[in-house]
Amino acid sequence: MFKTCSRCGEVKSIKDFIKDIRYKDGLTNVCLACRSAYNREQYLVQKEKFLKRAKAWRDKNKDKKRVHQKDYRNKNKDRLNLLAREHYKRHRTKIIEKSKKYYQDHKEACQARKKLWGIKNKERIKKYNREYKRKRKIAS
Ligand SMILES: [Zn+2]
Repeated sequence: MFKTCSRCGEVKSIKDFIKDIRYKDGLTNVCLACRSAYNREQYLVQKEKFLKRAKAWRDKNKDKKRVHQKDYRNKNKDRLNLLAREHYKRHRTKIIEKSKKYYQDHKEACQARKKLWGIKNKERIKKYNREYKRKRKIAS
């Protein structure tokens, strides 16, 4: 007994077809080779679909998380500021010490950064100094 595979069009022995009662002759229309190739393809397609879905989910949740964090920060701004202030007050000496030590350890980098900041904020500093002088004049 032979049957033509509907996929590759080859005439093959019915042993090369899987039994399937949904079909009229009790056999699938595609041969075993095509069937496994199809399964492999499907596997890859499904895998890709799955990976895409997983990535989309991750992206979506990343945004959500980011929005959530921002939202949280906005909603708790005062509280967080207060907490930061409290933290600073409580550990003031330690923080100052730490930053001093950091400065000592990274002196050059810190100075370079400061210099860069000064260059970048030249106008702002100028304006600030002007304002400062003006205010002092008014005060005196
Ligand atoms: Zn085939």
